[in-house]
Amino acid sequence: MNSTYIVDISELLRGEIGKKQQFSFVLPNNFSEQSVFIDGKFFGDITYLGEELLIDFSTDEFTNKETCVRCLTECSRITSIDHASESYSLSDSDKNPFNLLSKKDTDESQTFLDLEPLLSQEIGLSFRTHPLCLEDCVGLCPECGTNQNLKYCGCSPKKSPNAFDTLKEQFNSKL
Ligand SMILES: [Zn+2]
Ligand SMILES: [Zn+2]
Repeated sequence: MNSTYIVDISELLRGEIGKKQQFSFVLPNNFSEQSVFIDGKFFGDITYLGEELLIDFSTDEFTNKETCVRCLTECSRITSIDHASESYSLSDSDKNPFNLLSKKDTDESQTFLDLEPLLSQEIGLSFRTHPLCLEDCVGLCPECGTNQNLKYCGCSPKKSPNAFDTLKEQFNSKL
């Protein structure tokens, strides 16, 4: 178990149904190249429901480094994970997208839950699919590549083909 986000749930599994266990971890500032935390925490609780565990988790704010799809400049965005939840089946492990449970070889009575796959997945989902630096970003000039948000390059915009012009030409050529 190399993960940093391991919770010992041995006591929880021996407890009553409905019992909760809290967890909290300090995240490394450079969690990944794309996601930067500043003294951020990953925290939540695990509820024992008999057949399954319910994991509720959140993070403090972090910055995702994104690239504007129109002008290709970096447009960082501050976001956070707020009460993501995932259920983990104890009775049917095939139902689980990840195997989070593990036992210590030396002591069969200890059970651990590795939360890293859930955290990584949720951070991956926090990126926008279509990031824009500004809602009305005008993007790069298709002629010269200048970032038109910063500078007017003066290239004449290409005339967009107009269906009526094309029809008119066809009509005229027949006369
Ligand atoms: Zn842009
Ligand atoms: Zn241009």
